[in-house]
Amino acid sequence: MMTFDIVTIFPAMIEPQLTAGILGRAAAAGVIDVKIHDLRDFTTDRHRVVDDTPYGGGPGMVLKPDPIFRALDAIEADRGRPLTVVLTSPQGTPFTQLEARRLSQVRGLVILCGRYEGFDERIRERVSEELSIGDYVLTGGELPAMIVLDAVARLVPGVVGDEASVANDSFSRGLLDFPHYTRPVEIATTAPNARSAEALAERVLRVPDVLLSGNHAQIRRWRKQQAVARTLERRPDLLAAAGLDDEEREILRELVAQRDKP
Ligand code: SAH
Repeated sequence: MMTFDIVTIFPAMIEPQLTAGILGRAAAAGVIDVKIHDLRDFTTDRHRVVDDTPYGGGPGMVLKPDPIFRALDAIEADRGRPLTVVLTSPQGTPFTQLEARRLSQVRGLVILCGRYEGFDERIRERVSEELSIGDYVLTGGELPAMIVLDAVARLVPGVVGDEASVANDSFSRGLLDFPHYTRPVEIATTAPNARSAEALAERVLRVPDVLLSGNHAQIRRWRKQQAVARTLERRPDLLAAAGLDDEEREILRELVAQRDKP
């Protein structure tokens, strides 16, 4: 079973994520074990202070190193094994599906949520991974921690019921996912931002015929074609590193040839 320990000064922000949905079910079933730790429980002073002013002056507060070290000692003692410690930080390695897959192979993850200006630099001594969820700055590491937890946990065997759905997801092989449809076969709606009377008229949107054909070989081929076409159109940067099979490579060649036709 994979364990997750999240260290935060706002446990209440993270707790709801573990009571609903796929992660909630996986935790209840014991497929993953997630514990949330209040950083203030690892302070030793009466006021449970976790932050202090920066040496050298300047704005903002800095998270003190000693409560973090005590929290990590306690978590490691509790789990009884070495753990992979993740620091959430805008300065970290970009978090991708590849990183999520790599982290889903470890037995236990600790995720540290920063606040204010972040942590005293010395806590990096105990950190094995520094991860950023994107090139923007948030007020705290709780949302990044939840994102890392969610993306990693859903790759742990047994968390998502149908393993095949995970294998087909966007990025899992370097391709975006194919489009999905469900009942009804036809549905009417107006065009988005309709201005003209003509555009205001309802349009009937139909599920592509191939998906209703019952021809599984054709459906498989169509989905591959869609996945490759979408990736080429929206994220051509992914294609260089994508693990395409022969059929997908051929589809890509055809699409590129069509696109480049004068
Ligand atoms: N002064 C810091 C930013 C602190 S933001 C700097 O510029 O590097 C406060 C906390 O929010 C960080 O410690 C981190 O835990 C979290 N955080 C903010 N943006 C993030 C991002 N893009 N990815 C991951 N964590 C982030």
